[in-house]
Amino acid sequence: MSFSLILCNARVANRGVAGATVDIAVSDGRIAAIEPQIPGEGERVDAGGRFVSPGLVESHFHLDKSRILDRVAPLEDRRATDYMKRVSAVKDSFTVEDIYARSRETLEQCMLNGVLHMRTHIEVDAPIGLRGFEAIERLAKDYAWGFDLQLCVFLQEGWTNVPGAEATVVKALERGATVVGGAPRYDSNGPAQIERIFAVAKDFNVDIDIHGDGGYTLDDTMAWQICDLTDRMGWGGRVAIGHGNKYSCMTDEQVAALGKRLAGAGVAVAVLPATDLFTSGRHQEHSVMRGVADANALVAQGANCSIATNNVLNPFTPYGDCSLVRIANMYANVVQRGTETDLSECFAMISDRPARMLRDDDYGIAVGNPADLVVWNAKSAAEVIATVAQPVMGFKRGRRLFTREAATLHRP
Ligand SMILES: [Zn+2]
Repeated sequence: MSFSLILCNARVANRGVAGATVDIAVSDGRIAAIEPQIPGEGERVDAGGRFVSPGLVESHFHLDKSRILDRVAPLEDRRATDYMKRVSAVKDSFTVEDIYARSRETLEQCMLNGVLHMRTHIEVDAPIGLRGFEAIERLAKDYAWGFDLQLCVFLQEGWTNVPGAEATVVKALERGATVVGGAPRYDSNGPAQIERIFAVAKDFNVDIDIHGDGGYTLDDTMAWQICDLTDRMGWGGRVAIGHGNKYSCMTDEQVAALGKRLAGAGVAVAVLPATDLFTSGRHQEHSVMRGVADANALVAQGANCSIATNNVLNPFTPYGDCSLVRIANMYANVVQRGTETDLSECFAMISDRPARMLRDDDYGIAVGNPADLVVWNAKSAAEVIATVAQPVMGFKRGRRLFTREAATLHRP
């Protein structure tokens, strides 16, 4: 047999005897065989007994407003909540070229951190209109050789209270966006916006991903309405909620009930710890709440959840190295999840689980699937999260995508 690549000595989750390694053979960009030892011709790359995973999946991201920290007014008061205002103030300066350049830089950093799939939200409010969509649409085409990018369009600054706004969402969907999102919290009538999102999704037969349940009280929790509409429309498995800070204010019993409802309806939750931590508890002077939902507790009830980065270097989250593993580690630390099982689940929440949210049917290390492979400087999924392990190398459809040299200590 002849292969284009044989990745040898790889540790793969849920395969064979615990601790045993396998070889992964690639042909025509797909995984052709997974066996303890694969003879045959082809370029051999030694994974050195390291953990190998499919490419990570960012299920909730904003490429279009990444890297704008240098042009917004600084946050002067720790307790201020004017992130939106500070972003809005500079949106006029966003051109297609500008959005493309910033998004490209962020996307490349994500790739170098082992992320090979992403759903990015794109604002189409005035004054941006379709500029962001045009930029990201081009980026998706230009980087198709190394990255799968899913476009979700939404209105950040109001829908039902902004005459004509929905027309831009419709235009973007007509041009090929495959997901419709929303930010009902910034609408004068949140529930009405949610109704419109579902109606538009039905018209275009697209998936739904709504920013929801931010805040620190259980008033106006949107998840129930979203689950009801999902049931009514038969959209199970096609709907996600991003944030869910409110769920961190629930008792164990309430969280369990929510998890069951989400699982029954097929509504997923993406927890966004970097943003949720940065924006939560601004009303509190001390004993500041964390605002990060315990996704593990929802998963335990059968719900699908993911952990995602959301924002990079903007007023909502003035941080970011585009390492999704770092975000997952931060999540685990904050929700106090540290067992091997919990940490493996955290890894699933940046890989298999978000892949299911994005309905990526041929995701994962299995014969016949695309050879999207990342070699980690760790021996297991749990160790990747615990140690914020670096990806050593990555492959997209069997082609080497990146290589990271290990740091060297120069002894005397
Ligand atoms: Zn978001």
